[in-house]
Amino acid sequence: MTAPLVRLTGLTKHFPTPGGLVRAVEGVDLELHAGETLALVGESGSGKSTIGRLVLRLIEPTAGQVEIDGRDLGTLGAKDLRALRREMQIIFQDPYGSLNPRMTVGAMLAEPLRLHGLAKGRAVDAAVADLMRLVGLLPEQARRYPHEFSGGQRQRVGIARALAVEPRLIVCDEAVSALDVSIQAQIINLLVDLRRARGLAYLFISHDLAVVRHIADRVAVLYLGRVVELASAANLFATPRHPYTRALMSAIPATDPTTRHERTLLIGEPPSPINLPNGCAFHPRCPHAVERCRVETPVLTGDGHGTACHLWPALPAVPPLPAEHETSDRLKRLQARFQDQRPTAAE
Ligand code: SF4
Repeated sequence: MTAPLVRLTGLTKHFPTPGGLVRAVEGVDLELHAGETLALVGESGSGKSTIGRLVLRLIEPTAGQVEIDGRDLGTLGAKDLRALRREMQIIFQDPYGSLNPRMTVGAMLAEPLRLHGLAKGRAVDAAVADLMRLVGLLPEQARRYPHEFSGGQRQRVGIARALAVEPRLIVCDEAVSALDVSIQAQIINLLVDLRRARGLAYLFISHDLAVVRHIADRVAVLYLGRVVELASAANLFATPRHPYTRALMSAIPATDPTTRHERTLLIGEPPSPINLPNGCAFHPRCPHAVERCRVETPVLTGDGHGTACHLWPALPAVPPLPAEHETSDRLKRLQARFQDQRPTAAE
């Protein structure tokens, strides 16, 4: 096995607030390899977006390390960090908010090319046209402004801008969550194609397990800043172990009303990250909690399929999620429709 592109060791982030210390991320250990898609899933407040920002060094960790290619980001000087940042890009949920409304898309794509010396003079226009084609837009659309594009097209522009600097890692922060499901399928296809063609690694942050099931190689399930389950996507969806993962999965509706899958209802809201419960942070919502869960914090154990739960081996097995659950099935049908064609500019 080659060395990971990204290695997180004991990564921790606390935010001081007037109400107390928000423990957003607590001792996370993860690895992401070149060409791999690692999904971070969990409810709002689980810490997944904070991890994305820590990896990009947009915020400083309270403790722990982020290593890229074996280099600790915390020890890099400003020049080295700037050079490394070129290799790590982000795609946001709302591309419109990150696009300058006063610049044409062509000017926006040209800017990083010039800044990083990737193209000069006339070669810039050719490189912009290539980027537009790469993401399924027409080169002549580079003369337009962001408001002249649809939501899906703007996300393509966001992807083109991330690709302009030839990154190796892209953090996709809820990158398809705001899109209509048919456009979601096109953007996911595009991301999958680009990963294959360019050997990109994705840190794919999402609350949508159906989308994650389709795109991820491995999945880390987060609850209140900790990884509670870590496995290949195939294993996680076939044999979810942690009660929280099972509850997230059982919330996905089935397409076929005759198809039944066991439901584990999540009771109540997650506790405040300012005042985390002792022991397993999930115990106030867990239907299986016992006294030990209230006093002892479970650690992630298990080769290949890690689970942070004292009781999971003794929990009743759940049948795997039906392959045809609603969103996944819709995505598959839509993807079959778009499979043989490059995404078009006519969304
Ligand atoms: Fe539930 Fe206990 Fe497992 Fe936590 S450790 S998930 S409370 S059974």
